[in-house]
Amino acid sequence: MSNCKIDLQLDDYATFCRDCHPIARKVHTCGECMDKIQPGDKYEYVVMLYEGDFTTHKTCSACQEIRDRFFDQYYMEMIWETLKDEFDERFPHIGWICRIEGLSEQAIEKLSVKLSGWLEDKAEWWD
Ligand SMILES: [Zn+2]
Repeated sequence: MSNCKIDLQLDDYATFCRDCHPIARKVHTCGECMDKIQPGDKYEYVVMLYEGDFTTHKTCSACQEIRDRFFDQYYMEMIWETLKDEFDERFPHIGWICRIEGLSEQAIEKLSVKLSGWLEDKAEWWD
Protein backbone atom coordinates (compact mmCIF):
# COMPACT_ATOMS: atom_id res chain seq x y z
CA MET A 1 0.00 0.00 0.00
CA SER A 2 2.48 2.59 1.19
CA ASN A 3 4.75 2.11 -1.84
CA CYS A 4 2.09 3.91 -3.86
CA LYS A 5 2.59 6.97 -1.72
CA ILE A 6 4.96 9.74 -2.59
CA ASP A 7 7.87 10.05 -0.19
CA LEU A 8 8.90 13.66 0.09
CA GLN A 9 11.67 12.84 2.56
CA LEU A 10 10.91 15.81 4.68
CA ASP A 11 13.45 16.52 7.35
CA ASP A 12 11.91 19.53 8.95
CA TYR A 13 8.50 19.87 10.49
CA ALA A 14 6.31 22.59 11.82
CA THR A 15 6.80 23.11 15.55
CA PHE A 16 3.09 23.45 16.05
CA CYS A 17 0.21 22.35 13.91
CA ARG A 18 -3.50 22.34 14.69
CA ASP A 19 -6.29 21.62 12.30
CA CYS A 20 -10.04 21.91 12.41
CA HIS A 21 -12.79 21.27 9.90
CA PRO A 22 -15.28 24.11 9.93
CA ILE A 23 -18.20 24.72 7.58
CA ALA A 24 -17.49 27.74 5.38
CA ARG A 25 -19.66 30.75 6.17
CA LYS A 26 -18.21 32.80 3.32
CA VAL A 27 -16.27 32.02 0.16
CA HIS A 28 -12.68 30.90 0.76
CA THR A 29 -9.99 29.84 -1.68
CA CYS A 30 -8.40 26.41 -1.43
CA GLY A 31 -4.63 26.82 -1.03
CA GLU A 32 -4.00 23.68 -3.08
CA CYS A 33 -6.22 23.81 -6.18
CA MET A 34 -7.12 27.52 -5.86
CA ASP A 35 -10.79 26.66 -6.43
CA LYS A 36 -13.41 28.40 -4.34
CA ILE A 37 -14.68 26.83 -1.16
CA GLN A 38 -18.37 27.74 -1.12
CA PRO A 39 -20.42 28.69 1.94
CA GLY A 40 -21.80 25.47 3.42
CA ASP A 41 -18.82 23.37 2.29
CA LYS A 42 -16.68 21.69 4.89
CA TYR A 43 -13.00 22.53 4.60
CA GLU A 44 -9.80 22.08 6.54
CA TYR A 45 -8.29 24.99 8.40
CA VAL A 46 -4.73 24.51 9.60
CA VAL A 47 -2.62 26.78 11.76
CA MET A 48 1.11 26.10 11.82
CA LEU A 49 4.11 27.53 13.56
CA TYR A 50 7.07 27.07 11.30
CA GLU A 51 10.47 28.65 11.89
CA GLY A 52 8.91 31.24 14.19
CA ASP A 53 6.06 32.26 11.90
CA PHE A 54 2.42 31.37 12.14
CA THR A 55 0.79 30.46 8.88
CA THR A 56 -2.77 29.42 8.11
CA HIS A 57 -3.93 27.15 5.34
CA LYS A 58 -7.37 26.38 3.95
CA THR A 59 -7.92 23.22 1.96
CA CYS A 60 -11.07 22.03 0.18
CA SER A 61 -12.34 18.55 1.01
CA ALA A 62 -11.40 17.07 -2.39
CA CYS A 63 -7.76 18.18 -2.04
CA GLN A 64 -7.68 16.84 1.53
CA GLU A 65 -8.81 13.45 0.30
CA ILE A 66 -6.24 13.39 -2.49
CA ARG A 67 -3.49 14.49 -0.12
CA ASP A 68 -4.37 11.77 2.38
CA ARG A 69 -4.42 9.18 -0.39
CA PHE A 70 -1.12 10.04 -2.03
CA PHE A 71 1.02 11.48 0.74
CA ASP A 72 2.16 10.37 4.17
CA GLN A 73 3.76 13.73 4.80
CA TYR A 74 3.40 16.88 2.79
CA TYR A 75 4.17 20.50 2.45
CA MET A 76 1.14 22.71 2.57
CA GLU A 77 0.12 24.05 -0.82
CA MET A 78 2.29 21.60 -2.73
CA ILE A 79 -0.08 18.75 -3.57
CA TRP A 80 -0.69 19.48 -7.22
CA GLU A 81 2.83 20.62 -7.98
CA THR A 82 4.22 17.42 -6.45
CA LEU A 83 1.71 15.16 -8.18
CA LYS A 84 2.48 16.83 -11.49
CA ASP A 85 6.22 16.23 -10.98
CA GLU A 86 5.50 12.57 -10.25
CA PHE A 87 3.33 12.40 -13.33
CA ASP A 88 6.03 13.95 -15.54
CA GLU A 89 8.73 11.69 -14.15
CA ARG A 90 6.91 8.42 -14.17
CA PHE A 91 4.57 8.73 -17.09
CA PRO A 92 3.37 6.35 -18.45
CA HIS A 93 4.19 4.22 -15.42
CA ILE A 94 1.69 5.98 -13.27
CA GLY A 95 0.72 3.02 -11.15
CA TRP A 96 -0.22 5.31 -8.30
CA ILE A 97 -3.12 6.60 -10.29
CA CYS A 98 -4.86 3.26 -9.79
CA ARG A 99 -5.34 4.23 -6.19
CA ILE A 100 -8.53 6.11 -6.76
CA GLU A 101 -10.89 3.47 -5.36
CA GLY A 102 -12.86 4.82 -2.49
CA LEU A 103 -12.28 8.47 -3.28
CA SER A 104 -15.37 10.65 -3.47
CA GLU A 105 -16.74 11.70 -6.86
CA GLN A 106 -15.60 15.22 -6.10
CA ALA A 107 -12.00 14.12 -5.54
CA ILE A 108 -11.96 11.91 -8.64
CA GLU A 109 -13.38 14.77 -10.70
CA LYS A 110 -10.64 17.09 -9.47
CA LEU A 111 -7.95 14.51 -10.21
CA SER A 112 -9.39 13.89 -13.70
CA VAL A 113 -9.39 17.59 -14.56
CA LYS A 114 -5.75 17.94 -13.47
CA LEU A 115 -4.72 14.78 -15.30
CA SER A 116 -6.39 15.87 -18.53
CA GLY A 117 -4.48 19.13 -18.35
CA TRP A 118 -1.17 17.34 -17.80
CA LEU A 119 -1.94 14.93 -20.66
CA GLU A 120 -2.62 17.85 -22.96
CA ASP A 121 0.77 19.31 -22.05
CA LYS A 122 2.36 15.97 -22.93
CA ALA A 123 0.47 15.79 -26.23
CA GLU A 124 1.93 19.16 -27.19
CA TRP A 125 5.45 17.80 -26.74
CA TRP A 126 4.68 14.79 -28.95
CA ASP A 127 3.38 16.93 -31.83
ZN1 LIG B 1 -8.70 22.21 -3.32
